[in-house]
Order: sequence, then C-alpha cells, then structure tokens
Amino acid sequence: MMDGGLPPWSLVIHGGSGGMTRETLDADTQAACRTGLTEALAAGAAVLGSGGMAIDAVEAAVRILEDDPNFNAGRGAVFTADGSIELDAAIMAAGRAGAVAATTRTRHPVSLARAVMESSPHVLLGGAGADAFALEHGLEQVDPEYFRTPARWQALQAMRASAAAGGPLFDKALKFGTVGAVARDRAGGLAAATSTGGLTAKRWGRIGDSPLIGAGTWADGAVAISATGSGEDFIRAAAGHEISARMRHLGESAAAATAAVLATIRAGGGDGGIIFMGAESSGWRFTTPGMFRGCVTASQKPAVAIFADEG
Ligand code: ASP
Repeated sequence: MMDGGLPPWSLVIHGGSGGMTRETLDADTQAACRTGLTEALAAGAAVLGSGGMAIDAVEAAVRILEDDPNFNAGRGAVFTADGSIELDAAIMAAGRAGAVAATTRTRHPVSLARAVMESSPHVLLGGAGADAFALEHGLEQVDPEYFRTPARWQALQAMRASAAAGGPLFDKALKFGTVGAVARDRAGGLAAATSTGGLTAKRWGRIGDSPLIGAGTWADGAVAISATGSGEDFIRAAAGHEISARMRHLGESAAAATAAVLATIRAGGGDGGIIFMGAESSGWRFTTPGMFRGCVTASQKPAVAIFADEG
C-alpha cells in the first residue's frame, strides 16, 4: 500500500481479484503470476522513468498482462457459456476515453481501445465492428484459438458439470479475473486502463464493467481507477465515477472513496477490488481473499502481492 507521499511518478497494477488463497493457488501458479506482474510493472516503469506519459505506461503494462496466459485478459481469457472468448477493454486519460467490447480477434484489446480514443469520434466500439476497426488501423489480428488455454477450458467444463448437476452455470461469486493499471506521470497526468475476458460462462454478448467508462475504468484530473470483480455490481454502482464524485463532493481521499464504493458494492452482494491513483496517494482495496496486484514508484522498488495478508 502506498497511501501518502508523493514520488515523481507512480504505477499500480492488478491482475484480478478472487477467491484464491495460499491453499487453493498452487505454488507454480503463484510464482508465474508474480513474475507476470513484475514484468508488467517493469514495462510501465520504463515509460514513466524516462519521462513518458501515464497513458503510455498503463497501455504498456496491460499489454504484458494480456499476453500472459495466467491472467484473464487477451491470451488466457475465460470462456463464454457457449465456448467462445469475448474481450472487453478501456483506456482513459485527461478526459479522453476509448473502449471496446466483445472483440474476438484483436491481440491487444487495450491498444484497440486507445485507437478508438485517438482515431475515431467514438468512445465505445463493439464486436465485429471493433475488430474491423483494429484491422483498418493496423493492429495485430490473431485466430481466436490464440486466446484459448486448457485451464480456462477446464474451468468452463467444471461449471457445465455443476450446472448439469443442478447448480448454476454462471456463478459470479466463483472467481474473478481482469487486468488493469493506473499511473501518474512526472507531469501529474493520470491514466487508467482495464482489459478482461469477463466472467467464466457469461452469456455471449454480455459486456461487463471493464469497458464502461465510469464503471470499471475512470481517469480525470483527480483520480484514476481500474476495477475487477462482479462486473454487474460495479456497473450499477458507477464505481469509477462514484469514487471521483465522492472525492469532489464529500472531500474524501481516493482511498476512502474507493473503500466506500466497495462497501456499497459488497452490501449489494457484489465483490471485487479496485486500484486507484489519486493526485496524492495510490493503492488498492478489495473485498475478496486475494487480488493479484503490484506497485512501483520513482522512489520505491517494484512490489507484487496476491493474498490479503501481504502488504
Ligand atoms: N469485472 C469483470 C467483468 O465483470 C470480471 C473480473 O474482474 O473478473 O467482466
């Protein structure tokens, strides 16, 4: 946690919140996830350390996590109920925003979100139209097979088996994923980015909170946030915008506003986590047993964590 202090630049990332504990997450996966988070921090820190912009840093960090099969974004994303993979992403900085929903062929949805922000008059593109826009703008396209991993396929099969035995096919409480980053650059600029495969066994066409500006992703002059968790609850809470509004209207710190919004979400039956970057503080809050997360600043070495009892 990095509340307080004001280093020249700062970066916080997450790789999703969820029910993972030391008992349920095997040691190899723990180690692989810590390595992936460290690499993502390094990519973002390289940008910020050389005077780059926050938006470049969050995009660079998220692209690493999209390529890492251990995280639920890009390669390694979860499956819809009918066995496809649909990706959502968003990016925001300085009042500008771009997002994509339910893409199936673009290797880096976060970069597509940025292209929507910078090269179109729109904020949110969905489905085949979003992938077509990516192709037109020279962003790498892949066969949808590229995103598939055996572990995610098994997770869908387990949910199908539990549904066949009378349980729910879609259980928002089961496990979350999603990756995100928030940054403050040397000029004081704030940015946020989020990318996800959504929730295992979601209905095809379902869009979560991650690509919805003001819900799972938000950045204005006061705060940048990226969320993970039961997306529908974060949408109903307008989580990202609500944090900013509480800071503006109630004078709360970024940390207090984030905690308050998560408490509201929890009271409504939702769970998850949020990373935040205020002008004067940064960190995370989560309601689940774990959240893959990490931080680095100009004056603090990279640090990563998974479980609630870690720093
Ligand atoms: N919030 C994401 C969604 O609902 C999923 C997650 O963070 O695990 O799409």
